[in-house]
Amino acid sequence: MDSAGFDPERVRADFPLLSQEVNGHPLVYLDAGATSQKPQQVLDAEIDFLLRTNAAVHRGAHTLAAEATELFEDARRTVAGFVGADEETLVWTHGATEGLNLVAYAIGNATAGRGGAASAGLALRPGDEIVVTEAEHHANLIPWQELAARTGAVLRHIPVHDDGTLDLDAAAHLVGERTRVLAFPHVSNVLGIVNPVAELAELAHGVGALAVLDACQSAPHLPLDLPALDVDLAVFSGHKMLGPYGIGGLYGRREVLEALPPFLTGGSMITTVTLDEAEYLAPPLRFEAGTQPVSQAIGLAAAVRYLDALGMPAVHAHERELERRLRDGLRQVDGVRLLGDAEADRVALVAFDLDGVHAHDVGQVLDAQGVAVRVGHHCAQPLHRRFGLTASVRASASVHTTAADVDAFLDAVAGVRSYFRVHA
Ligand code: PMP
Repeated sequence: MDSAGFDPERVRADFPLLSQEVNGHPLVYLDAGATSQKPQQVLDAEIDFLLRTNAAVHRGAHTLAAEATELFEDARRTVAGFVGADEETLVWTHGATEGLNLVAYAIGNATAGRGGAASAGLALRPGDEIVVTEAEHHANLIPWQELAARTGAVLRHIPVHDDGTLDLDAAAHLVGERTRVLAFPHVSNVLGIVNPVAELAELAHGVGALAVLDACQSAPHLPLDLPALDVDLAVFSGHKMLGPYGIGGLYGRREVLEALPPFLTGGSMITTVTLDEAEYLAPPLRFEAGTQPVSQAIGLAAAVRYLDALGMPAVHAHERELERRLRDGLRQVDGVRLLGDAEADRVALVAFDLDGVHAHDVGQVLDAQGVAVRVGHHCAQPLHRRFGLTASVRASASVHTTAADVDAFLDAVAGVRSYFRVHA
């Protein structure tokens, strides 16, 4: 039991995969930022649905179809509640990448005149500005590059300080009357620092721009109330928050979702269709064309119930202890440079460079000892370039990580330079 009343060993025992050995060593899984492991409760919920209830939702009058629809919509209520939102404001997606593309393409469709008067306010004109940060995952960068290229809008970015925090003075200058969208991460998947969301949302709203939040790396780790943060749109990803692959959420403020034209079109998102045109359902179904990932949504609801039962404040407190252990330990290792070492509110995710050893080699030596970390640019090339690197090593924890995992990782890192005979 740690000081937050959280029992890491008991939690770890809920994750069957973690009890195995890899390369002859007990598995130390520190790649939760890429994808988290799944507790038995999530696996059971998904299998139970497939074994007993599986049927297509929102169509068909038979008993299983009605039960599946009820479970699917109940899952939406549960997941929406987890981020402080109403069910009508939560759109299912297949992941955060799709959610961000949905938003960018929908704004592009509004620019092309789709969606009528309600959407006209979202249209971009040449010279309008989309502002992102230098710390984006490519999923919150490339969709905006593409939208700018299609509409004549200009893409700008908020720089990152050496300590990993955002340059908020620069942000205040960059965000101006031409800004129509300000998109940013709650927590960067390289830096692990919690960005000041409410402050950035206020900056966007001060000039009438949309605030779009990438909450992939915060939703699994912090108490989250998206309406209270006052963002217009936000995405998160099921597989990073103990849930299945192929499911994610897009939260939108009601008025914003109502104004957005659809991205994907087809079955299940319409009221009336003729051979010439179609009328669309209200959100959230307007954005859910085609057969939905139903068992995955039910698995994600089980994941957020699991997190809620632990209590997100206790989860955050536990992971802050791990985060301090990780950073304090890494600072003791000769040749380690942490990327973005600000003292700030953080999640337990840290990326570093080890002088004289390529990140991929570090990863290989750790893997041989059963320690799984991420190496490479982590889908954030511009941020790595800003730190003068092409790759780094990233260790990222979750509720299923223990202090013993962190210590095993630190021991393994401490041996890497002598393994390669690199000396200061
Ligand atoms: N944004 C961030 C900050 C991420 O870490 C990731 C996943 N690495 C994504 C977006 C993409 O999420 P998904 O896997 O759900 O498409």
